[in-house]
Amino acid sequence: MTAIRCPICDTFVNADGEAALTVMLREHLSSAHNLRPSSDVLSSKETLPHSPQLWEEMKRGSVPPREGGEVGEDVSESILCPLCGDRFFGHDGEDLTQHLIAHFQDDHGIKTRGRSLTLVR
Ligand SMILES: [Zn+2]
Ligand SMILES: [Zn+2]
Repeated sequence: MTAIRCPICDTFVNADGEAALTVMLREHLSSAHNLRPSSDVLSSKETLPHSPQLWEEMKRGSVPPREGGEVGEDVSESILCPLCGDRFFGHDGEDLTQHLIAHFQDDHGIKTRGRSLTLVR
């Protein structure tokens, strides 16, 4: 289970895995902030299984995971921007939240509560 915060209002959104997180956040953005994506990013983008090992391999650009190979940096969480489908990686939900806040501000011009919030864990 991963907990992220809405980049706009700080509401917690909990879900398990990339697709579920994206859907939950999209639902929240739609109902709470009236933000609707122009198209369904989930139907146009293949979502990935929740697999830390796989993330690690993909991040390095190598292909098949080596059995028994050590997992380095733990970047096991991901989410798609519900508005445009950009994918973000993080080692936990708070990490993803920070990426989303920056992305919403810079790429979508959406006013967020800012990046200086004390991390809540
Ligand atoms: Zn919100
Ligand atoms: Zn986006």
